Amino acid sequence: MVDLPAFEQGRHLLSVAQFSRSSLAQLFGLADAVEPFTRRRGICTVLDGAMLGSLFFEPSTRTRLSFESAFLRLGGEVTTTTGFTFSSMAKGESIADTARVVSGYSDVLVVRHPEVGSVAEFAAAATVPVINAGDGSGEHPSQALLDVYTLEKELGRRGRAVDGCRLAVLGDLRHGRTVHSLIRLLCLYRDLDFTVFAPAGLELPDEVAQAALVAGHRLRTAESVVAAVRGVDVVYATRVQRERLTAELAPASGGDLLNRRHLAQADNLDVIIMHPLPRDSRPDAFDLSPDVDDLPGLAIFQQTDNGLNIRMAIFLTALGVSAEAVRLTTKQRPWNASLRP
Ligand code: ASP
Repeated sequence: MVDLPAFEQGRHLLSVAQFSRSSLAQLFGLADAVEPFTRRRGICTVLDGAMLGSLFFEPSTRTRLSFESAFLRLGGEVTTTTGFTFSSMAKGESIADTARVVSGYSDVLVVRHPEVGSVAEFAAAATVPVINAGDGSGEHPSQALLDVYTLEKELGRRGRAVDGCRLAVLGDLRHGRTVHSLIRLLCLYRDLDFTVFAPAGLELPDEVAQAALVAGHRLRTAESVVAAVRGVDVVYATRVQRERLTAELAPASGGDLLNRRHLAQADNLDVIIMHPLPRDSRPDAFDLSPDVDDLPGLAIFQQTDNGLNIRMAIFLTALGVSAEAVRLTTKQRPWNASLRP
C-alpha cells in the first residue's frame, strides 16, 4: 500500500486545481492499491464506525452510487438525501445552516448542487471534509480524476502515455462540467493536442480554452465531427446538458453527435472512446450512438468501474487514513470466496 496523498490547499476536494502531477500520481497509486476491494478479492474495514453524509440536490446515478459503494467497501456507513424536495432546503434553509447541521452527523460529506460555487459555500460552513460531486456547470473533480486515471490505463495498454496524446472533445462543452474539469486537470500533462467540436452556442468557455493554451497545449476548433476525430488517439464525448439549456440554445441538428459512420469516415475505428455518462438514448438526443459499443476502443464502462477505485482513494485521502491502517484492516477472504472454483 502506498503512502496517502493530500489535497493541496485544504482538506476539502472542490477543484482539480488542488492537484500537482506528483499528488495526482500518488492518488492514482492509491486507486491501484484498493483494486482488491473493488474486485472483491479482499475486504477492508478501515472505515468501521465512520459515517458518510451523501447529499445530492441534482440527479445522479453513477456518482452517488459509486461514492456510497466506495465508502461501504471500506467498512463505513452511509446516510443519504436526494433532491431538494426531501430536504429542509425546500423549507428555505440556507446552504450554511444545512452544512453545519449535517457535519454533526457525518465524518465526511459528498455534495452535488445545481449552482456553480455552491459546494465551496457548503465547505466553508462545514466542520468535516466536503467533496464536490458536481456544482452546476462548474466542476466535477472526481469524474476528471477517474477520466484521467482511465486515460492513463487505456493509453498505457497501447504502449502510449498521456503526455503527447491527441484528444477530440465533443458535445456540450459550454455546460459540461466534466469537460471543464478534465481539460483543467490535463493541464498538468505535457504537449497535448485538443480538437474541440460543439453545437453552435455550446462552445467551450474561453477561460477553459485559455487554461489549456497557457499550459502549453494546442487547441483547435473543428468544423465537423469527422474532422474532429480524424487522427486523434482519444475521443471524449458528452451529452447536451438539456437541464441547463434555454430554448434558444437547444441544438438545431438531431441525429448523433458521434457514431460508427463518423469514425469510419475519419478512418479511426479503433480510437479510444470515452464519455462521462449518462448517454442520452432518446431519439435525436445528439449523443454518442450505441452503434460504437462493439468497437475495440470503447472505454466508457472502464471509466465507471475505475470510478470506484478513485472514490475510495479520495475518501482515504480526505480522512487521512494511513496505509498501515488499511493493511491492518484487510481480510484476504472475500464473501464470495466459497463461490469460486
Ligand atoms: N454525469 C456527469 C455529470 O454529472 C455528466 C452528465 O451529466 O452529462 O456532470
